[in-house]
Amino acid sequence: MAGVYVHIPFCKQRCIYCDFYSTTQMHLRDHYVEMLVAEARHRNNEIKQPFTTMYWGGGTPSQLGNGLMRDLSNGLRSALNLTDLHEFTVEVNPDDVTHELIDTLVDMGVNRVSMGVQSFVDDELRLIRRRHDAQRAIDAVDVMRAHGIDNISIDLIYGIPGQTTDTWKFSVDKAIEMNVQHISAYNLSYEAGTLLWRQRQQGELTEVDDETCVTMYFMLVNALKKAGFEHYEISNFSLPGFYSRHNSAYWNGTPYLGLGAGAHSYDGQVRRYNIADLQGYLHHIIDQDVAYQEENLTIQEQYDETVMLTLRTARGLDTAIIHDRYGQAVYDYLMRQAMPHIEAGRLSAQGGQLRLAPESVMVADDIISDLFLA
Ligand code: SF4
Repeated sequence: MAGVYVHIPFCKQRCIYCDFYSTTQMHLRDHYVEMLVAEARHRNNEIKQPFTTMYWGGGTPSQLGNGLMRDLSNGLRSALNLTDLHEFTVEVNPDDVTHELIDTLVDMGVNRVSMGVQSFVDDELRLIRRRHDAQRAIDAVDVMRAHGIDNISIDLIYGIPGQTTDTWKFSVDKAIEMNVQHISAYNLSYEAGTLLWRQRQQGELTEVDDETCVTMYFMLVNALKKAGFEHYEISNFSLPGFYSRHNSAYWNGTPYLGLGAGAHSYDGQVRRYNIADLQGYLHHIIDQDVAYQEENLTIQEQYDETVMLTLRTARGLDTAIIHDRYGQAVYDYLMRQAMPHIEAGRLSAQGGQLRLAPESVMVADDIISDLFLA
């Protein structure tokens, strides 16, 4: 099992909170697609194939347009072994969704679409400078469904300045009403250098306080549970059978190949980071066929990563794996560090699995870092 991630960095305009690698240099799209396929060909042997999941993220993959998306899909299919692909996800912006776009995706073999909705309140969407309004997102889901896409994921954001528990409830209820199969929800974060961060510095907007964000999070958890969603990772919820296989593979430590500017790859031991700069990426691929720097993860880093990723999931951390991979001393260390949290009810330890208690999710980072190897 392995996954392939393809980063499409193009965005028509920048949302004020965004710190993903993205660019508005749309005139480079053709060249970029060509170089992505060249990179895939060159790195064809890096990860044991066939790939079982593929994810196109961004940026905004739907900004490639139909022709380039087809070219990229065909190019990747000729460069990589995608014969056993179970899940093929493409991220789209609601504003780009048309019958032609979804027709193209279906033709390409896409069977899961992830859409950044963020809110169903127009004032909130305007404030964070999303391109679409709420109605556009609702119509986009209808279009996807009309073309037989039955695995739709939407993203929501809580903690938007001006958002209240009432407007958040409205967005959550609307999301449930739309009968999508998967919902991801994130707390708005103020990343240094973003416009959102600068606006807060200048006192132009007021941050939603932590207590309200916690209330919003648990409103979401309870409402989705009632609607039949499984809470399978801190920020991710799905109807039964609709977990994101690609993201679950990241959390399980499955190897993946990352293509494109800013993409990361992991082969189980070595992490490779592609340069997060479009021009730099294109030059590196032309000159050297690759655009990454690599880092051999130490045993300590591998252990820390396993703890961090698995404890965020409902399945939790399998302590037998820690014992098998890292030995008795590390296992003893883990259990010693976990004990105060188990005794305080913040972690549970059953059947060899360590799991976060539901009410401890908001302090997950603190608990997890206590378990890291010092
Ligand atoms: S569409 Fe996504 S990647 Fe592009 S600017 Fe907005 S949040 Fe960032």
